[in-house]
Amino acid sequence: MKTLLPSLLAAGLTLAAGATLAHGQAHGHKHAPGHGAHVHGQARLLLAVHGNTVQISLESPLDNLLGFEHAPRTPKEKEAVEAMLARLKAPETLLALSPAAGCKAEPAQVSALPGQDGQDSHGDLEADFSFTCANPPRDLEVKLFTAFPRLKRLDVQLATPAGQAAQRLAPGKTRLSW
Ligand SMILES: [Zn+2]
Repeated sequence: MKTLLPSLLAAGLTLAAGATLAHGQAHGHKHAPGHGAHVHGQARLLLAVHGNTVQISLESPLDNLLGFEHAPRTPKEKEAVEAMLARLKAPETLLALSPAAGCKAEPAQVSALPGQDGQDSHGDLEADFSFTCANPPRDLEVKLFTAFPRLKRLDVQLATPAGQAAQRLAPGKTRLSW
């Protein structure tokens, strides 16, 4: 069961809901078989371009975005969650498509599976971004590394008019083109 982070925030940041499922799912998402383990510092990005629309999905350990993976308890942790959500709700500051394409972001969909209140539990986040463009976009500047410095590696799967491809991004390599 996935829990929707914004509604949980509205309900007082009780991210413990679904925690029993979270532990098992953190190590193997059902919707993306074989994508690898939950490793701190690494995340996965799926990019699909169809004509003038772009769908981007980010799957990441919460640690990369927050510095912790349990339900927020302290005011500081709650602030960190708010700050993360604010960033994710401004997709154009994280994912910059070619300016010539004239793309507009739709509201991001964010869901999170926080860890249990144990020492070694893990939690993941999935964020889905959608853009509609005036012209077909040809490249993307990924700014996630500056927004989330704990992130060190991004494994990208692209499905574009140029075909399917896999690329690995890192803080010194942040541009995708097709
Ligand atoms: Zn973890």
